[in-house]
Amino acid sequence: MKIKYSIFDRFRIPAYDKSSQMQTGDLIFDPEKCNGCGTCVQICPGGCLLTETTTKVDILSGKAKGGKYGVPHVVQMKKGATLCIACFDCGTACPRGAISIKHNFNPGYHFKRLTQTSDMRYPKRG
Ligand code: SF4
Ligand code: SF4
Repeated sequence: MKIKYSIFDRFRIPAYDKSSQMQTGDLIFDPEKCNGCGTCVQICPGGCLLTETTTKVDILSGKAKGGKYGVPHVVQMKKGATLCIACFDCGTACPRGAISIKHNFNPGYHFKRLTQTSDMRYPKRG
């Protein structure tokens, strides 16, 4: 269904954690392909990836060493709301092609015009 926006939508700010107003990003990690290298956790600009065994802070500080960090997941800040903006930096950097987008970051109201749409294509490693 195509949503029609009015002039008033330009002045409305969607609530980040209300799924009716803001769809945050979500990803699928293929455990068969992922080798737990931690690259995606390190580079995520939203800081929203974690694994069962370590955090981004532990990886960057050197506290967690060895490179077998487990399969990451996107942390939910609230039910259905993550900090993922679906930029796909993680998927582009993943050496195993283990990440795909489940759904995009897609705010309602006027922000929708400034962000991704479902038509957007993500860069892939060659
Ligand atoms: S970059 Fe890819 S292989 Fe490495 S931990 Fe992330 S999903 Fe797994
Ligand atoms: S898509 Fe971007 S914000 Fe979302 S987890 Fe990957 S790097 Fe982080």
